[in-house]
This record gives sequence, structure tokens and C-alpha cells, in this order.
Amino acid sequence: MKCEICRAELDPETLRCGVCGAKYTLICPDCGLVPGPGETSCAQCGGSLLPGLDMTRAEMTAAGLKCFMPYSGDRVYKIYLGGNLDGGGHVFHNLPGYTHEPPQERVVLPSLVEGHPIYGIWNEFFCVGDEFIGEQQAAAYARMMPIREIVVSEGIQECFTYAFFGCAGLEVLDLPRSLKSMKNDFYDLFMDGKEPMGNGVKKCPITLRYHGTEADWRKVSVTSRFWEYVDLGCLRLEYQVNGDQVNGDGSR
Ligand SMILES: [Zn+2]
Ligand SMILES: [Zn+2]
Repeated sequence: MKCEICRAELDPETLRCGVCGAKYTLICPDCGLVPGPGETSCAQCGGSLLPGLDMTRAEMTAAGLKCFMPYSGDRVYKIYLGGNLDGGGHVFHNLPGYTHEPPQERVVLPSLVEGHPIYGIWNEFFCVGDEFIGEQQAAAYARMMPIREIVVSEGIQECFTYAFFGCAGLEVLDLPRSLKSMKNDFYDLFMDGKEPMGNGVKKCPITLRYHGTEADWRKVSVTSRFWEYVDLGCLRLEYQVNGDQVNGDGSR
């Protein structure tokens, strides 16, 4: 398998990228479980394991990625990228060193944080809610505008509402086979699919590059508005298996 950040071949023994140094940890793409030491298949579903990008809190903070990591005592509950809740959790945007800047045109969202699997993507991972109201709003949108591609790493199961809110420059959204649910309906980016966005720019279509077959995608739960945007040509589906495009006419 290739590194999702720099596309170099991973060392199969260490699961490290020899070029950029990124760390990967095995994860079950079917149920998001991280296997115990020495396990070669998923103890829950028997499925085969894939390397998931595993970042430290410090790396995520430096990359401007926000994460909600709820815990209580020694238990860690479902972890989300994004989210605005503070109750009892570990919230990256409160840490020193949080950059508040999306790192580059191509953003790779990890599927583990320090060995804990990340379940889903919630509200906007580059901003906090307060930045979308009042005078701060224009600056928040401007900061996200340069993002052209977002790669959701293998292991993440859910893109919840507002997951990609305000990513107006987005051209490619790379989605893992592990995805079970796409609740983000892209309404904020396309409105009725015809009108230019608030800044006078007509939003280009987004290519959804899904790492599975069309039959696999049919099992992913999506909103009815999602298919409306596919029909309007705002969203284009592309299916890839082992890096090869298998069928990508964008229709259903
Ligand atoms: Zn790399
Ligand atoms: Zn499994």
C-alpha cells in the first residue's frame, strides 16, 4: 500500500513511510476495529486489515486539524474529526500550537489518533462554530477556499452533516471503502445547484473518488439530496479498486 500523504510505498514491516515518515496502524476497514498485537485479521468480522494513517495529537494540532476525543476515566468513546463540544473531551483547537490554518491544497485526514480509531468527521475540522457567525465569517471561508482535495483515510466510517462545510474550493473528495454513511449533503456548497455561491463564483463540480465498486457504494447510506446533486452534475462519482478506475460515468 502507498502512503496517503506522499504516495511513496509503505514499508510492509514497520508500516512507516520512508519518505515523509508518516506512521500507519492496521485497522479493519469493515468495522473500524484496531487489532491486538499479532492479529492478522479482524477479531470481530474476520475481515482483512489495511494500514490507516495514525497521527499524534501534536501532529494534528500542527496541521490545523481539529479533533474531538471524548473520554471518561480510562475509557475513550467514539472519536470524531471536527465538532464543537468541549464536555469532558480533548479538544485540539484549545491546545497551544493549533495553527488555525489548513496546511495545503491537499489535506489528508487520519483515521487514527495515537492508536485510537477515529470514527467519523463531524462539523468542520478547520474552524470552530463561532468563526461562522458575524464579522469572522468571511475570513473563515477565505481560509478554507484554497483546499482543493480532501483525502479521508481508510478506517473512517461516517461523514456527518457539515463535515465539509465551507470548503468552497473543493474539487476532489477521496473516500475510503470503510465509509458507511455520507450525511454531508453539500447543500452549503451548491444550494440549488444553479446559482453562484455567495462570493459570485460558480462552484465547480466535486469528484467523489470512492475506493470500492459501485455496488459497494450502494450500501453506503446517503441523503436524498445527495442524489439530486449527482443528477444536477454537481457531484461526480468515480470508483476505484486497487488504484484503478473501475467505472466512472458519474451516473447511478
Ligand atoms: Zn509518505
Ligand atoms: Zn472487522
